[in-house]
Amino acid sequence: MSEKADIALIGLAVMGQNLILNMNDHGFVVCAYNRTTEKVDQFLANEAKGTKVIGAHSLEEMVQKLKKPKCVMMLVKAGQAVDDFINKLVPLLEKGDIIIDGGNSEYQDTTRRTVELRKKGILYVGSGVSGGEDGARYGPSLMPGGNPEAWPSIKSIFQSIAAKADGEPCCDWVGEDGAGHFVKMVHNGIEYGDMQLICEAYHLMKTALSLTNQEMSEVFEDWNRGELNSFLIEITKDILKFKDSDGSYLLEKIRDLAGQKGTGKWTAVAALEYGMPVTLIGESVFARCLSSLLDERKHASLVLKGPPSSKYTGEKKQFLEHIRQALYASKIVSYAQGFMLLREAASVHGWNLNYGGIALMWRGGCIIRSVFLGNIKTAFERNPKLPNLLLDSFFSEAVQRCQASWRVVVAAGATLGIPLPTFSTALAFYDGYRSERLPANLIQAQRDYFGAHTYELLASPGKFVHTNWTGHG
Ligand code: NAP
Repeated sequence: MSEKADIALIGLAVMGQNLILNMNDHGFVVCAYNRTTEKVDQFLANEAKGTKVIGAHSLEEMVQKLKKPKCVMMLVKAGQAVDDFINKLVPLLEKGDIIIDGGNSEYQDTTRRTVELRKKGILYVGSGVSGGEDGARYGPSLMPGGNPEAWPSIKSIFQSIAAKADGEPCCDWVGEDGAGHFVKMVHNGIEYGDMQLICEAYHLMKTALSLTNQEMSEVFEDWNRGELNSFLIEITKDILKFKDSDGSYLLEKIRDLAGQKGTGKWTAVAALEYGMPVTLIGESVFARCLSSLLDERKHASLVLKGPPSSKYTGEKKQFLEHIRQALYASKIVSYAQGFMLLREAASVHGWNLNYGGIALMWRGGCIIRSVFLGNIKTAFERNPKLPNLLLDSFFSEAVQRCQASWRVVVAAGATLGIPLPTFSTALAFYDGYRSERLPANLIQAQRDYFGAHTYELLASPGKFVHTNWTGHG
């Protein structure tokens, strides 16, 4: 009898194949399966040739080849395909066996599946997997959540194959039920925010400062050496200077119409559902929506006039430093908002989230990997109960150091007619968050005026009163 497999993996598209090869590199025996079974043979004969990977042509054969407890990981299209495989697997598994979904599933689906399978004695895990195909092959960021009883059995595989940051694996148990997929969703939302922030910096450099692509690339290269050091800044530096076969910059030939697959939108929707002001991710999703109105924008550009000039007339080098600081301060706000959403969802669902651990999971392997996430991890280590990142001394000092530049940039955007939705929403949030008194007293008065919704007086919170504002009736 040949060696039994440590884990089975269903789904031999790009992510599944690469994760299998990554597991094999780390000494685990994997049994590969795919709905279209020809792909199993193709994979074993090509990509997995010479490895310890084994294959199966049916789910029955696959589970027979597994060690106990049997552990089956799926990397298939999110949605119905996941439920279909679960339904087929359950009769083949025993109590204590484990099913893992590594796809981009909605967190509510993962919660539902965890609860349903718990009743049947099967341990279910929904794991965020980030880093694309390269990450899957050489070290992704992994965010597993679900039934915590599964963790001891899968921990060594997950932490071995995950990316490492400062020697530590970018993977730890996230929390119960859909917590892993929720954290992955917020990660993707933050990714939208980071990308939009960089786009606004590029817009300012190109339009207000008339920098060439080579000059902009050099600025990003310089920024990447400091506190903004990150994967997205690094790739932006490469993209800016990339030349097409005709010698011109490819970036400038790409249609300004941003696509989206939905996880940024899910984060914004979750923010509304949980009542958390995650404004920067929201604006970055809307910025993509606005970009997609290409024909309308073309027409409006001929009709709607802006200020007479979009050129910045001050000192270029100094303005570039203002932009860098505005980007850094806005990024701090974005992550503070993302963690506010995590905290609120954790409180609603009773998830015991380890925020420093989450920062470490995002520190390497994934698209938002950065030096900055190391600072966030340190902040939560200093105070695991930190109510808001902005209140950590490292970040509050950083924002205060940057705020004069931030205000110069947002004001310049408004004066020059250059849209800066995320820079400006971050600043508005900062000013709102640090305000002891906001004008919401007027909203309460208006609500009471037209709808008798009542209000509380500053002097007697908790006591709701109504006023007849017009003196009529
Ligand atoms: P994918 O294109 O999302 O899915 C292809 C796989 O799903 C194939 O194995 C396919 O089997 C199977 N499949 C599709 N519909 C099915 C159905 N109705 N019943 C059974 N099997 C079905 O593959 P992927 O890009 O490798 O992604 C896998 C998962 O990881 C997805 O949830 C994706 O969102 C997530 N993810 C992807 C990335 C990325 O960079 N690509 C990054 C992170 C997470 P057949 O071969 O038989 O069609």
